[in-house]
Amino acid sequence: MEQFKTERSRYARSLIEASLDPLFTISLEGKITDLNKASTDIIGNTRENIIGTDFFGYFTEPIKAREVYQDVYKNGFVTNSPLTIKDNKLTDVLFNGSVYKDDAGNVLGVVVVARDITEQKRIATKLNEAIVFAELTTDIAEQAKSKAERATLIAENAVKAKQQFLSNMSHEIRTPMNAIVGFTKVLFKTDLTVKQKEYLSAIKMSGDALIVLINDILDLAKVDSGKMTFEKIPFKISLSLSAMIHLFETKIREKNLQVFKEYDNSIPDVLVGDPVRLHQIILNLVDNAVKFTSTGSITVSARLTKEDEENATIEFSVTDTGIGIAENKLTSIFENFQQASSNTSRLYGGTGLGLAIVKNLVEAQGGSIVVKSQIDTGTTFSFTLNFRKTDSLDESEEDIEEFAPGIKNIKVLVVEDILLNQLLMKTLLDDFGFQRDIAENGKIAIEMLIKDDYDIILMDLHMPVMNGFEATGYIRNELNNDIPIIALTADVTTVDLEKCRLVGMNDYIAKPVDDRLLYSKIVSVLKRSVYIKNVTDEATLRDKGTKFSCINLDGLIKRTKSNPVAVLEIIKAYLDQTPPLITAMNNGYKDKDWNKLYSAVHKMIPSFGIMGIKTDYENMAKTVQEYARAPEQANGIYDLVSQLSNVCTNACTELKEEYDRIKKTGL
Ligand code: ADP
Repeated sequence: MEQFKTERSRYARSLIEASLDPLFTISLEGKITDLNKASTDIIGNTRENIIGTDFFGYFTEPIKAREVYQDVYKNGFVTNSPLTIKDNKLTDVLFNGSVYKDDAGNVLGVVVVARDITEQKRIATKLNEAIVFAELTTDIAEQAKSKAERATLIAENAVKAKQQFLSNMSHEIRTPMNAIVGFTKVLFKTDLTVKQKEYLSAIKMSGDALIVLINDILDLAKVDSGKMTFEKIPFKISLSLSAMIHLFETKIREKNLQVFKEYDNSIPDVLVGDPVRLHQIILNLVDNAVKFTSTGSITVSARLTKEDEENATIEFSVTDTGIGIAENKLTSIFENFQQASSNTSRLYGGTGLGLAIVKNLVEAQGGSIVVKSQIDTGTTFSFTLNFRKTDSLDESEEDIEEFAPGIKNIKVLVVEDILLNQLLMKTLLDDFGFQRDIAENGKIAIEMLIKDDYDIILMDLHMPVMNGFEATGYIRNELNNDIPIIALTADVTTVDLEKCRLVGMNDYIAKPVDDRLLYSKIVSVLKRSVYIKNVTDEATLRDKGTKFSCINLDGLIKRTKSNPVAVLEIIKAYLDQTPPLITAMNNGYKDKDWNKLYSAVHKMIPSFGIMGIKTDYENMAKTVQEYARAPEQANGIYDLVSQLSNVCTNACTELKEEYDRIKKTGL
C-alpha cells in the first residue's frame, strides 16, 4: 500500500514536472503547497523557499490574483485569466486553474497552470505593429496617390493653359501678320527701286516664315488637344502626288537634283480622305528631303499595301540621297523643336516642328510613320494611311483660273470687321478691277444685300454683332438668296469648315489671302453659279493678248515694263528656238529616242509661262517629260506629243503675227 502511494506520488510529480508552463498547487489559505521547475525558474528562487509563501504575492496585481483564485473556488475552475508574474521580466501568463478534492469530495486546494504568453504577446505586438505600419503605409501611399493626382491635374491644366495661350496668341499674331504679308504683296506691285525690292523681299520672307511658324504652333496645339478635324472627301492620290512634286520642281532644278515619282497603278483612282492634310504631310517630308540633299535624287512613292471591299491602305515614302540622320537621333527628330544636330538650324534653317506635325497628322488619322536613314547615304520617311474607297468623283480637282484682269464688272460685297483686312481686300479687288463694298459685320451685310445687287460675297467668319455663319444662314434661309458666298478664314483646320458647308457657303479661302487664288476662287465660284451667265456675257472684255487662242502676252508686257524692244527680242528668241524643238520632239518620239524627246520638251517648258500659254499645256509637257523618263510607258503618249506639237506651232503663228504688229504699231 505504502509502495503504491509512493508510486502515485512519483507519477504525480513527473506529470507536474512534464509541464513547461509554471504549475502550482495552492492551499485553501492561498499558500503555495507545491510547484514545478518551470515555476522555480520563473520566480528565480528555490522550491523550498517558495513553498509556504503567499501565492498572490508573486503577481504585479495581487488583488486581481486573489479574485481569480477565489473564482476557481466559486466555479470549480477558471480559464485563460491574464496576470503578470512579478519576476524581473514581468512575465505575462494566462492563468488556468481548477480545484482538487479528497476522496470524500472536500476541496483541498487549487491547481493552477500559468501559461507563459510572452512569446505570443511579442508576436501579437509585432503583428499589431505590422498592421499599424501597414495601415500607415497605406495612408502614406494614398496621400501620395492623391498628391500625384493633384499634380497630374495641375500639370494637365498647365498643358491646357499653355495650348490655349499658344492658340490665342497665334491667332492674335496672325491677323496683323496677314496684313503685313498682304500689304507687302501689294507694295510689290508698285514702282520700286532695286534696293526697295530687296528690303521688301526680306520683309515678305520673314513674314512668311513667321506665318508658317504660327500655323505650325496652332496645328500642334490643335492636334494635341484633339481639336484637329480631318476632311473626308473624294480625291485622286496620283494627282496630289504630282501636284506636290511640281511645287518643288524649281527648287529641285536649282539644286540640280533629280526627282522621281513611283506610283503603284493598282491604287484605286479616287479615294476618300483629307487631301489638304496629305499635302501638308508630303510637303513637309519633300521639303526636308530637298533641304538636306545636295546631290542625287528624291523619290516620292505610293504603294498599295492592303485592300478590301471598303478600304485601301497606302504606304507613301519620300527617299533622298542626302546627309542622313544619326541613329541616336531617329526618334527625337519627331519631337517638338528637335533637330538632328545643334548646327542644323544655322546651316539649313527650320524650327524642328515639321516632323512633329507630320507624325501627329499621320497618327491622328490612324496611320504610322517610320524613318530609315544612313549618314551620308540618305533617308527614307514612310507613312501608311488608310482611305475609304468610293465610286464618286474627285471633288478637289479644280481648275485654277488664270489671272485675267479683263473681267471687270463683278460686284463684290466684302464682310470683314478688321480694318487692316478691309483695306487689304479693297486693294486686291481694286487690282482685279472689281467693284466692291465693305460691310463691317453680318447684319450690315444683310442690309446692304437687301438694298443692292452683288455678284458674290466674301464673308469673314468671326465678327461682332452677327458672325459669318449667322449671316449666311439668314441670307440662305430668310432672304432665300443663293448668291455665291466665299468664307474668309484664318483657320482652315477647325470645325469651322464643316460649319461653312452646312450653312450653305460655296467655298472658302484661307488668310493670308493669295491674290491669284482669290481671283481664281471668285471666278470659278461664279462660273459654277447661275450668276456667271450675266457676268460672262457682258464681262469678258479681254485684253489685247487674249484675242489669240493660244498665247497671252500680258505677263510678258508687264514683266518688261511695256518695253517693246524687250518684248520683240523675247518673241524672236522663242520663234528661233521653238520650231527646231518641235521637230526634235516629234523625231524623238518617232525614233523612240527618249533622251532626245526628254531634252526637247525640257527646253520648251519654261517658255509656256513667258508666252502666257495655258498651264494645261505646260502640265501636258511635264507629263510627256515624265513619260520620257519611264520609256516602257512612253509608247502610249502619241496624243500628248501631237497636241503639244500643235500648240507650239499655233503659238509660233500667233507670235509671228503679234511680232509683226508690235514692230509696226508698238505695244
Ligand atoms: P526642321 O526641318 O524645321 O528643322 P523637322 O521637324 O522637319 O524640322 O525636322 C527635324 C530634324 O530632322 C531636322 O532639323 C533635321 O535635322 C532632321 N531631318 C528631317 N528630315 C531629314 C532628311 N530628309 N535628311 C536629313 N535630316 C533630316
